[in-house]
This record gives sequence, C-alpha cells and structure tokens, in this order.
Amino acid sequence: MGIVVEDVSKQFGSFQAVSHINLKIESGSLVALLGPSGSGKSTLLRLISGLEAPDSGRIWLTGEDATYQSVQDRNIGFVFQHYALFKHLTVRKNIAFALELRKTPAKKIKARVDELLELVQLQGLGDRYPSQLSGGQRQRVALARALAVEPKVLLLDEPFGALDAQVRKGLRAWLRRLHDEVHVTTVFVTHDQEEAMEVADEIVIMNKGKIEQIGTPAQIYDHPASAFVMSFIGPVNVLPSSSNIFQANGFDSPHPEVFLRPQDILIETKSTEATVPARVSRIIHLGWEIQAELTLDDGQVVTAHLSRERFDELSLQPNQRVFVKPKDARAFPLHYSI
Ligand code: ADP
Ligand code: MG
Repeated sequence: MGIVVEDVSKQFGSFQAVSHINLKIESGSLVALLGPSGSGKSTLLRLISGLEAPDSGRIWLTGEDATYQSVQDRNIGFVFQHYALFKHLTVRKNIAFALELRKTPAKKIKARVDELLELVQLQGLGDRYPSQLSGGQRQRVALARALAVEPKVLLLDEPFGALDAQVRKGLRAWLRRLHDEVHVTTVFVTHDQEEAMEVADEIVIMNKGKIEQIGTPAQIYDHPASAFVMSFIGPVNVLPSSSNIFQANGFDSPHPEVFLRPQDILIETKSTEATVPARVSRIIHLGWEIQAELTLDDGQVVTAHLSRERFDELSLQPNQRVFVKPKDARAFPLHYSI
C-alpha cells in the first residue's frame, strides 16, 4: 500500500475536523479527496504530510509507520492552490531547489531538471522567472519542483483552484497523462466533482470530517452510498415519495424522499405505460444537452436533461403537455444534509 490511514482523528479546539478516518491508497494510484468546503480534505492531506499531527490513529507510508516522522523524513511532494514559487529564482532554480539543498552534484541536477522540464512540457522556459509565466505554467513548475526529489507520495491541495475554467480543464487532462507516465502515489484534493471524476482512479467523498464513500468514479456515480453522495456528485431532483411520478410507476419507498437524476426522466409525447402527465414549464439549452423543467399535475417541478437528438425528436415546446416516468430512482435510509 502507498498510504494507509488508520483510525485517524484530529480536533482543533472543540471542533472535530476529521473523525476516525480509515483509508488505503494503492501504490501508484491517483486518488481524489472530494467534498464541500470545510469537510476536512486539507486537514487529512496535512495529516498525511506530517504538517499536522493526529490526536489519535496512525499513518503508514509505503509500509512504514510515519505517524511520528517529521515532514522531511516522509519524503513527500506537496503542491498547494497558491504555491509560492521563489520569485527571485528562475524556473530552473525553482525546480532544482530541493536537490541543491541535498547537495546533489551539479551535473545530476541539470539532467534531472531537464528531464522534469520536459515532463511538465516547459522546455525552453527554464530561464524565465515566475512572473513571466501564466498561472497554469506556474503550477506545472510547482509540480516539477515537488517531483524533483522523487517523493514517495505526491499531495496536491486544489492545485488548479485559482486558475480559470478553461486552463483548469486543460491541466486536468495533462495531470492524468503525467500520472500515467510517472505513477507516483498521488492524493488530489478538490471540491469539484467533475475534476475528481476526470482525474482520479478512485474518489474518496468526505463530508463533515468523515468519509461517506470510497469508489471509482463510475461506482460513486452509479451506486451512491448515501443521499449526500448522490446530491454532491451530480444534479438531482429530490421529490417526496408520495409524488405521483412514483405512484404510477410502482416505485415504493419506505423513505420520505426519493432522488432522481435529471437524465433518468423519460419524456414521451403520448401516454404510455406508467407515465404521468406533466407540462413543460421551461426549456434551457445547455449546449450539448437540453434541460427541461416539467411541472407534474401534483404541482411538483422536476428537472429533466435530454440529448439534443431526443429533444428534436420530441420537438418539445414551452407549455407542451408531455408524459413522464422515472428510469431510475433512489432512496436512502439516512437523512442527508449538505
Ligand atoms: P476543506 O479542505 O475540506 O475545506 P479543512 O480541512 O481545511 O477543510 O477544514 C476543516 C475544518 O477544520 C474547517 O471548518 C476549518 O475551519 C477547521 N480548521 C482547519 N484547520 C484549522 C486550524 N489550524 N485551526 C482551527 N480550525 C481549523
Ligand atoms: Mg481545503
């Protein structure tokens, strides 16, 4: 195992930031810690790095008990959202920094820095200063710097969080490719579901200092373990189980709330088996898909997503009468809160 977190808890004053965390991360994998702001993601990452000490529990890195090891001894690469590169040092010198501290021979440093510049696709920019780079390029330098000493694990805390959406998207894909080349055990913190889905082999969903679910992106999306996970990982309609959309369908739930993804609502223009009537109250073009707001006869409003193709096929119009049924719906025993 690359990282094992064993029953780790951490309190700040009377506030329980993380509580009884158990987590195993395979060597060479890329795992995302995903959760809303304040859910304990950064605290867990800092506990793994040694920047914080746990109140209880243990942390193992590549088979070694690291609970009482210093940050330095853990040999970890760290990249933060606002990673302060040394402004007065060139890209090259920034990347070489930790190697120079370790008194690595100059020739070796040069070779390693060249290799890293290529890896992060910044060949030719080695002599620039951080102020002469874009935000995305700076974070790539930060990553090269973290990788310079061949860390046992790489910890990334919202590394693309300060960049604009377009740049972020590019960097995600880039990070995934980079990881496929380097295979260093990586933990990536994000509050962005899409980012976690796109980048990670496995996602750890955190809420209020606890782990709600661990799984591959597909497992988490298709089989959410809780109402919280289902609501956090994608858009959802939350309807009372008494709604006639479920009654007509024979979907019988002992729980008061039922969760229905917008793409799991089937729309027909004619009444077919198990459908209920609804009125199209609003149509929104989202580019590659269409969002339709539908008002059921019982007054409930549901949001449906459909492909452009299906939308054209139905030639949906505002105020049109349609017939709908759920393709899939879920209910959970515990009450949820975000
Ligand atoms: P996340 O990264 O998921 O947004 P954090 O791990 O940073 O969450 O924080 C979890 C909670 O712990 C937050 O409510 C935060 O205010 C609190 N917290 C984190 N670090 C400290 C600290 N050093 N002192 C006091 N409270 C802290
Ligand atoms: Mg954080």
